[in-house]
Amino acid sequence: MVIVIGAGLVGTVLAVRLSQLGIRVKLLERGPFAKPTTKNGINDGRTIAVTLGSKLFLDKCGLWDDLKSTAQRINYIRVFEKGSAWTLDYDYKELSDQPMGYIIEFDRLTAALYEAVQRADLVEVVANCTLQKLEPGEVTSQDHGVLKAPLIVGVDGRNSWVRGQVNIKSKTKEYGHKALVAHFTHEKPHNATAWEVFQPTGPFAMLPMTDTADGKNQSGIVWCSPKDMNWEEMPDFEIEQKLTEIFPYYGDVKICSKRWIFQLSSLTVDKIVAPRTILLGDAAHVLHPIAGQGVNLGWRDVADLVELLEHAKDTGQDYGSSHLLDRYCKKRKFDQHGLYFFTDGLTRLYGFDNSLVSFVRQAGLATVNKISPLKKFFMKKAMGI
Ligand SMILES: Cc1cc2nc3c(=O)[nH]c(=O)nc-3n(C[C@H](O)[C@H](O)[C@H](O)COP(=O)(O)OP(=O)(O)OC[C@H]3O[C@@H](n4cnc5c(N)ncnc54)[C@H](O)[C@@H]3O)c2cc1C
Repeated sequence: MVIVIGAGLVGTVLAVRLSQLGIRVKLLERGPFAKPTTKNGINDGRTIAVTLGSKLFLDKCGLWDDLKSTAQRINYIRVFEKGSAWTLDYDYKELSDQPMGYIIEFDRLTAALYEAVQRADLVEVVANCTLQKLEPGEVTSQDHGVLKAPLIVGVDGRNSWVRGQVNIKSKTKEYGHKALVAHFTHEKPHNATAWEVFQPTGPFAMLPMTDTADGKNQSGIVWCSPKDMNWEEMPDFEIEQKLTEIFPYYGDVKICSKRWIFQLSSLTVDKIVAPRTILLGDAAHVLHPIAGQGVNLGWRDVADLVELLEHAKDTGQDYGSSHLLDRYCKKRKFDQHGLYFFTDGLTRLYGFDNSLVSFVRQAGLATVNKISPLKKFFMKKAMGI
């Protein structure tokens, strides 16, 4: 058995996949474990960019069939700096006939994962679970006493309780940004294009969504701005006007959802394992959402851990052995560190409001756009393949 602590986007996929491979799972969740309903509107408005690599993994986990009707293809990605004529343009056809990725609404993703957990024979969910103490191979809960397993996986998010219990140190980096998330309808079609516009005040992303129920073109935004921006107070028309100023390409735009504000920071840890314990997902790494990679990275953690556990099961080895933990660290090091430095570097690079740096950035984008092998390298990274 494996104990998984945290039933978010990463913990649920881990639990479902382990069950499919014949490994029993106790999935402990602090909150209620329930399917999001649309009764009170959208709960969490994030539009999650799912890379092609993640799509292939979710498919392998038997999850894609439930998701595909709600997934909007990303065929093209356009990146540029506000005011510059130089762009970086990714076109899926340069690599294959598969899209670069998909946009899926957070609530729809959560609902599909909830259903998958319900169907998973070997997953026992313990919701509303208050945890008190963690020791190697055992966790004490207020209502369920001591629960034991050879491996405990902490997938309990950026403020991970598991991390604190095993004394893994973390470092948070503030970017001085907050992000406005909202959905818009617009006059012109998005043509399956995701846009990333770098501005001196922070990056802005326009992400294609499936049409609204009444057939209107729809996109989601992640609009990063300094923390003192008063998005909360601003009337809709003012946000629409500001949006049209920085993004005049879709004709008339109308806000069609609530607004959600996220404070942005990144987080790194000094290690990702402790005796009989592994940290996965945001518990182990939080990225700036500039490149839409956080949960994709978490799912790659899942894929690598599952491979090791499957091998341990087939060969009768201990799921929590130090050998398995070491191998997991080695497998994940490059991807986790590399992506952190890339997103952090990008955020810092675009944080400089200086004309020389701006010229270098723009020339850099134009160069990548022109040099095919370099461009394909970055495309593959963005697609998680
Ligand atoms: C604005 C924004 C946009 C984003 N867009 C993208 C994107 O396009 N693509 C992408 O890949 N990523 C994106 N991300 C990042 C992505 O949302 C996160 O990486 C992902 O949700 C992390 O999932 P998780 O399961 O690791 O953690 P969480 O989603 O935080 O889940 C943790 C779970 O653990 C539970 N928990 C916490 N403490 C305990 C405890 N003590 N006991 C039991 N359970 C506990 C929580 O209740 C929760 O259910 C975005 C993030 C933001 C802020």
